[in-house]
Amino acid sequence: MGGNDVDDTSDVAIVGSGIAGLTAALTSARLGRTTLVVGGELLGGELLSIGRVDGFPGFPEGVAGYDLCPMVQEQASDAGAEFIAARLAALTRDGDVWQLRTAEGAFSARAVILASGANLKELGVPGESRLRGKGVSHSASCDGPFMRGKTVAVVGGGDSALQEALTLAEFAAQVLVLVRGGELRAQAAYRAAVAGEPKIELRYRSVVEEIAGETGVTSVRVRDPDGTADVAVAGVFVYIGLAPDAAYLNGLLERDADGRIPVDGSMRTQLDGLFAAGAVRSGWGGRAAISAGDGACAALSADAYLTQRMKVEA
Ligand code: NDP
Repeated sequence: MGGNDVDDTSDVAIVGSGIAGLTAALTSARLGRTTLVVGGELLGGELLSIGRVDGFPGFPEGVAGYDLCPMVQEQASDAGAEFIAARLAALTRDGDVWQLRTAEGAFSARAVILASGANLKELGVPGESRLRGKGVSHSASCDGPFMRGKTVAVVGGGDSALQEALTLAEFAAQVLVLVRGGELRAQAAYRAAVAGEPKIELRYRSVVEEIAGETGVTSVRVRDPDGTADVAVAGVFVYIGLAPDAAYLNGLLERDADGRIPVDGSMRTQLDGLFAAGAVRSGWGGRAAISAGDGACAALSADAYLTQRMKVEA
């Protein structure tokens, strides 16, 4: 499969291989549709970096994203879906067929499901990009083991910040959660777990102004109602929300104020044969289970669209 050969046109192409894309692939392949996943450079999506996905049905103790995603990928492959590890560079339409351009070649499909997810936002303060990988991190489960016995800072007050603070508390001596406002956004389950973890300290109205260090992070400059101070930390873990990943659209579709793709209840976008699922779509509810449900729903809608089109052409 692949290249520009018209005979290679897939029924359904899925952009992204997070839990939404993988579930779409599984569902589409089981419906008998030829299914190609253009899965990004690293197959598995954002959940791959998460040591414990909580609240996913069937896993009362949580499940590591790096266990869950390969399981679903294998299930989708077994059902017949094909995978290409490449980022989508551009999406265009040629008649009734969608063209997908990647660094690994061009592909075509009769229907496309956009499940490209979202990336963790950056703070944009001095020191952040220079010290990325040297103490500034987006992954508590990857970099937490290097923080054994040290003090670290987590920035943010949502579910991600508290979830990852709990992971870090397994390794670090102390975890300072720096919340810019006066309250948390995180769900009750995380707030309760954090309240029961003595290593975690919540600091409200604390705004990070700079991250300092030469070869690695040594401190973070924090402004709070008492003034500004340098707080000694060995790591800074930034969890301040998600930015949808859909630059490849290049104006093809209107997006909402957050850059997400508007869909109807069947995951249809405003363009025929184009669907969106998971964190890239407007109104996503912020749960892995919702992403999986979106993926299944989008695959069913793509299948219905292809069936309808065949009837019109007949
Ligand atoms: P959220 O958007 O939910 O929260 C972002 C947090 O970062 C808020 O506390 C916000 O503060 C703060 N923030 C935003 N910008 C800045 C900034 N520039 N400087 C400092 N702080 C900032 O993002 P999350 O990544 O936590 O979660 C994303 C989605 O994933 C949510 O829907 C969440 O529910 C979901 N999720 C679900 C999980 C689960 O169910 N197990 C686990 C993890 C995530 P403020 O409130 O002041 O805006």
